[in-house]
Amino acid sequence: MKIIVCVKQVPDTSGKVAVNPDGTLNRASMETIINPDDMNAVEAALKLKDETGCKVTVVTMGPPPAMGMLRELMAMGADDGVLVSAREFGGSDTYATSQILAAAVKRIGVEKDDIVMCGRQAIDGDTAQVGPQIAEKLHLPQVTYVAEMHKTGDTITCKRMLEDGYMTIKVQTPCLLTCIKELNNPRYMSVSGIFGAYEKPLETFGYETLKDDPLIDPTTIGLKGSPTNIFKSFTPPAKGVGLMLEGDDKGTCEKLAGILTAKHII
Ligand SMILES: Cc1cc2nc3c(=O)[nH]c(=O)nc-3n(C[C@H](O)[C@H](O)[C@H](O)COP(=O)(O)OP(=O)(O)OC[C@H]3O[C@@H](n4cnc5c(N)ncnc54)[C@H](O)[C@@H]3O)c2cc1C
Repeated sequence: MKIIVCVKQVPDTSGKVAVNPDGTLNRASMETIINPDDMNAVEAALKLKDETGCKVTVVTMGPPPAMGMLRELMAMGADDGVLVSAREFGGSDTYATSQILAAAVKRIGVEKDDIVMCGRQAIDGDTAQVGPQIAEKLHLPQVTYVAEMHKTGDTITCKRMLEDGYMTIKVQTPCLLTCIKELNNPRYMSVSGIFGAYEKPLETFGYETLKDDPLIDPTTIGLKGSPTNIFKSFTPPAKGVGLMLEGDDKGTCEKLAGILTAKHII
């Protein structure tokens, strides 16, 4: 049994978000972090590893510096890592990203007992589409928004979070799960894990590695193969200071009603 976890390196949105004049994100000028939901996916995989001794492989598609993130995940306990990186893959939207990641996961190999895990959503693109798209392309059953999971034999019982409650779903391996923060508290790297991380295998899948997969075609990957286009992105202007009216008397209420009427809100 093995678990393949897809992890995305994302800009730290708690800091400055920089946008290029052409509307694309200026990723080079921003600090990066591991996408938070993906940390929960990694922790879930490592817990299963603690229980069963299974192998955990972490996969990311991104530029070469994303290797550092894979080493961090190996220091947490992942066994090996795969960086999916090529000029041909740059500019991919969610459709193209999932084509490429699905091809990478296929190359690693998904067998009967295996699980593919993703975060629910990346905090930059924010679409929550990549996990379900990978599942579709690999013909795997999927459960999204997993808040609890228990594996018994080849069945996983998942508590799936909904807006107003939970749904319990049983799914058979091989399958794909997308994980949310309610699932667990990610562990820290250990000191021995940090030393050991540099001995663990880290492979790069470039265009040449994946090009023979039918999912990899110039019309389905990269900017040219992306059916969606970013029209514009920008940093919204800071909001002005609000107006506070104090008091609960009739005069204050009339003043508030006057302001709202003048702005055509009421
Ligand atoms: C026209 C266009 C051009 C773009 N160009 C670029 C670009 O040049 N560079 C760029 O970085 N982005 C680019 N993007 C954004 C990029 O397409 C998305 O960030 C990416 O497809 C993932 O979508 P998402 O962030 O909404 O992920 P979600 O669907 O919200 O992610 C869900 C989960 O999928 C997995 N996942 C998602 N992406 C990856 C990944 N890369 N590696 C491993 N796991 C992953 C993670 O587990 C994640 O939690 C572009 C988008 C468009 C529309």
